[in-house]
Amino acid sequence: MQSTEAMTDLNSVSNEVLLVNIKKLSENERRITYEILLHLAEIERRRAYAKLGYPNLWEYTLKELKYSASAAYRRISAMRALNNNPELGEKIQNGALSISTVSQVQTFLRAERDQANKIYTKNQKSELFKKCENKSSREVTKELLTISPVAAIRVQKEREITENRTIISFVAEPNLLTKIYRVRDLSAARLRNPASYPELIDLMSEVTLDEIDPLRKPIRQTKPDKMLAPITSQPTSSVRHIPTSLRIKIWQKYEGRCAFVDAQTRKRCNSTFGLEIEHCKPHALGGSSTDEDNLRLLCKHHNQWQAIQTYGLDKMEPYLKSKDHCES
Ligand SMILES: [Zn+2]
Repeated sequence: MQSTEAMTDLNSVSNEVLLVNIKKLSENERRITYEILLHLAEIERRRAYAKLGYPNLWEYTLKELKYSASAAYRRISAMRALNNNPELGEKIQNGALSISTVSQVQTFLRAERDQANKIYTKNQKSELFKKCENKSSREVTKELLTISPVAAIRVQKEREITENRTIISFVAEPNLLTKIYRVRDLSAARLRNPASYPELIDLMSEVTLDEIDPLRKPIRQTKPDKMLAPITSQPTSSVRHIPTSLRIKIWQKYEGRCAFVDAQTRKRCNSTFGLEIEHCKPHALGGSSTDEDNLRLLCKHHNQWQAIQTYGLDKMEPYLKSKDHCES
């Protein structure tokens, strides 16, 4: 709208011009924000961030687009709300709903789904967004609290307090508490009495990792196990054809990290999330499942990216949509 040089002359413009200008600028800002949400949605649909070596949209928005964690969170969560409720677009642009309100409501709806098994209909969602129009963040919180006191607060938190200490808090349901107490009782001989939560979680993690972490498996194992079983919901999955010993070898070769490398920048993804073994030449197209050189380890999103390149977005989209790739 104005060049930087023109901006330095702001102290000589009249109040009227100043006030008109900032109004136009803020309208532009809302329009651009809306455009950004649409772009994020399309980038996610194509998994376009994966080509640059990012393991997910979240990392991409932080590192490539340089948003702070909270700004990235608000945008991704507002983008997901907009995906499901396109009518929000107009309200975001005219300022009736800020992206922080949209993100707040979206987070609330997720918490309702995850913590109370409560799924809102399209109409109920629209009503809820309508109730929150033109409200401050505090007023929105109040509105949500009256509907569901637990879901209205972000109960799951991870907060780094020093470089090597993090506070983790979450709400435990009675069922989970019973299991935690059972572990505590059964491991009383191995742990301090009473065992602390970090000790208990450490023990549970050790037992689980011994069971499911391919990096902890001896190479000579031949018995198939649950963790290394194929995920059969994608047409690309032919992991079942790979001998278990070879699967473990591939995991160890790539040190349990995604092997995807951006051809231009040579940036390797290295993500450890949702790793699967991928055939460089797909099994369906005659690629070998026993040739080590045809196999590599990819994270969930790079597997999806590779599948889109091989089979096309149209064919893959139903499979990708059925998965909740929401990490925000
Ligand atoms: Zn990856």
